[in-house]
Amino acid sequence: MLEFNNVSKEYHVGDRVIKALDDVSFKINEHQFTVVLGPSGSGKSTLLNILGGMDRPTKGKIKFKDQFVNELNDRDLTIYRRKVIGFVFQFYNLIPSLTALENVAIAAQLTDNDDAAVSYLQDVGLKERINNFPNQMSGGEMQRVSIARALAKKPQLLLCDEPTGALDSVTSMKIVKILQDIANNTDTAVVMVTHNPQFEQYGNQIIKLKDGKVELMTHKDAVLVGEAE
Ligand code: ADP
Ligand code: MG
Repeated sequence: MLEFNNVSKEYHVGDRVIKALDDVSFKINEHQFTVVLGPSGSGKSTLLNILGGMDRPTKGKIKFKDQFVNELNDRDLTIYRRKVIGFVFQFYNLIPSLTALENVAIAAQLTDNDDAAVSYLQDVGLKERINNFPNQMSGGEMQRVSIARALAKKPQLLLCDEPTGALDSVTSMKIVKILQDIANNTDTAVVMVTHNPQFEQYGNQIIKLKDGKVELMTHKDAVLVGEAE
């Protein structure tokens, strides 16, 4: 579905050059749950932002289906972000003055179709909470709203940057299970970035980053969440 070919990203800070990504290559396929693992500063967010068309590489190619994302102009890159990509962030980024339902509906422009928005919230187990505001929900519930919001756009690729970074371990496992189910059972491939090695086993592609380089890449049948100890 998507290929990252020899991608590098440099940032210039004063007279220093920071190599945030250094010659990184991998592929993402349908029904794949990719876990990107690495310590803070290893380039995980940079990788995800380039995948999502929020940032451009210094070198290298990103090919989505038949189009080279690195060659798109700003307008077409915006369309790519809107149509292809869903984003989930560590701190949810919900609109505080809108209910769960309204947050999902407005992002997907489902404002005339509450049923569709309700069904996305139902899919993440939040049917009872649709009329709650973010400050009436737990962190795990807010993260589930943000996943429902991203899915309502029917993205082909769901990109999650430290989605469990602010959650306790039990709640984190629930979120990872939801992401794994989406990858396995829908047409949306999922990439999850984390610094927590505990989640490595749940991916079927694991990319370990260190200092902007791929240190190790593995493919396997993922352990299903719930079957793990
Ligand atoms: P991670 O998400 O793994 O913590 P990042 O991708 O955020 O890592 O950062 C990788 C490296 O690039 C770090 O050294 C970081 O300081 C640097 N970096 C990231 N974004 C910028 C930026 N906009 N300007 C300068 N340096 C940046
Ligand atoms: Mg980061």
